[in-house]
Amino acid sequence: MSTAIDDLYSSLKARFHGELIRPGDHSYEAARGIWNRMVARTPALIARCADIPDVQLAVRSAANNKVLTAVRCGGHSLAGYSTCDGGLVIDLSRMREVIVDPASRRARFAGGCLLSTVDTATQKHGLVFPAGVVSHTGAAGLILGGGFGWLTRRFGLSCDNVQGFTVVTPDGSLVRANSKDNPELYWALRGGGGNFGVVVEFEAGLHPLSSVVLGEAMCAVNDIAPVLRHWRDFMPGAPEDLKWNVSLRLAPQMESVPAQLRGRPVLSQSVLWTGDPDEGHRYLGQALSVGNLVGSGRRVMSYLDLQTMADHEFPSGRRYYTKSGYFKSLDDSSIDDMINALAALPSPLTQIELAYLGGAASRVAASETAFGDRSSPFVVNLLGNWADLSEDLANISWVRNLFRELRPAMTPGVYVNFMSADESDRVPEAYREHWERLAAIKSHYDPNNFFRLNHNIHPRKQPVMT
Ligand SMILES: Cc1cc2nc3c(=O)[nH]c(=O)nc-3n(C[C@H](O)[C@H](O)[C@H](O)COP(=O)(O)OP(=O)(O)OC[C@H]3O[C@@H](n4cnc5c(N)ncnc54)[C@H](O)[C@@H]3O)c2cc1C
Repeated sequence: MSTAIDDLYSSLKARFHGELIRPGDHSYEAARGIWNRMVARTPALIARCADIPDVQLAVRSAANNKVLTAVRCGGHSLAGYSTCDGGLVIDLSRMREVIVDPASRRARFAGGCLLSTVDTATQKHGLVFPAGVVSHTGAAGLILGGGFGWLTRRFGLSCDNVQGFTVVTPDGSLVRANSKDNPELYWALRGGGGNFGVVVEFEAGLHPLSSVVLGEAMCAVNDIAPVLRHWRDFMPGAPEDLKWNVSLRLAPQMESVPAQLRGRPVLSQSVLWTGDPDEGHRYLGQALSVGNLVGSGRRVMSYLDLQTMADHEFPSGRRYYTKSGYFKSLDDSSIDDMINALAALPSPLTQIELAYLGGAASRVAASETAFGDRSSPFVVNLLGNWADLSEDLANISWVRNLFRELRPAMTPGVYVNFMSADESDRVPEAYREHWERLAAIKSHYDPNNFFRLNHNIHPRKQPVMT
């Protein structure tokens, strides 16, 4: 007797332009892997689409055959939603075309692009699309959840810079969503994740920028509290050209790190300036003015170098677990909790990442997009990062324990793209006042919850939108 997957395979194989990969095929092992090794699943079929008709065919056939379906762009879902056991993976990694129109400062890019694909194409024209800080991240997953990075304060969230989407809905139709066509869907796609369909093309606004000034420094554990308090007090008044990211961690065993700090708890600081370099040096000086700073340096660097400088720290195939949240303001006792947690870090690769948003991202009204929260500027991401399966329990427990300590001081809300798979109870918290509107849009475009391998917005029982 044929199974749903056999029927799906039969309905695809004659007409599919890309590759259909099944267990036992020589490329299957490589094709099934995603970034987070904690999630090792065995899909029954991987449909590596070559073009939009492939995506339409795969979606329509999988929906008709009621096959569990995951959608993959860069495979960086921290929760591991871009794979599944026994179902279909729609893999967009062959769909990476980018078309830039320098005159209008706009780009159209395909649904399988990585950040590096977009950056490389736009930088040929001295233009940028604001996105994340690791270039092998998928653009689609990042944008659909919101997307923040080095340029958020200057140019807003990634989703704020998208003017239109082309989407394949569960019946295989191709739908455009922008401020005029399907405006509710356009609203939902800017933060609502992969809940509504497969985005095959983004239309985005670009900004001129090709080089930046970066200041970097580290300080030892005794200086972390005063430096973090300075950072906390400095950022609310900082110009939008300035982005200052900090991370509490163990200093890496690298030649560039002073020998006395290697393997010791440190605060690592990176201060970015995107405006006039002379003015930038003044602000960088003010930022990096507290504590006994070591390994301190400043350089003018290309935007492409900035976007790739952290790539090596987060390779595919390690084990990762995160918990994240927002603070309206960062109190001294939360700072102390973070510093104390460093003493018991189970992995030298784990980091407590802190960023301050604000700027252009906070000037977009909350109601304009589905993105959850723009009012709490301090973001913390506890990023557990280790190599060995036997260390799972210690690392996951460390992240959970610190999160439990910090949670009372946090404001409700969480960035969906920083959530783990065991946090489905936090999805309504992520969307807060947008939840009901999102559920109505979901009910209209995906009433059977075909797209459910994501931070899922459940459709209502009866579709309510007309
Ligand atoms: C190393 C690393 C660095 C990161 N840095 C940042 C950062 O700087 N800023 C930031 O905001 N986030 C960052 N993130 C989080 C990142 O935004 C999410 O992990 C995001 O989901 C990654 O997108 P992806 O396309 O690679 O993921 P995938 O695993 O391919 O997809 C994730 C989900 O997105 C949806 N999806 C993907 N493609 C499509 C599509 N074309 N159409 C519809 N739905 C789709 C699906 O629901 C899928 O389950 C980072 C993650 C990692 C692992």
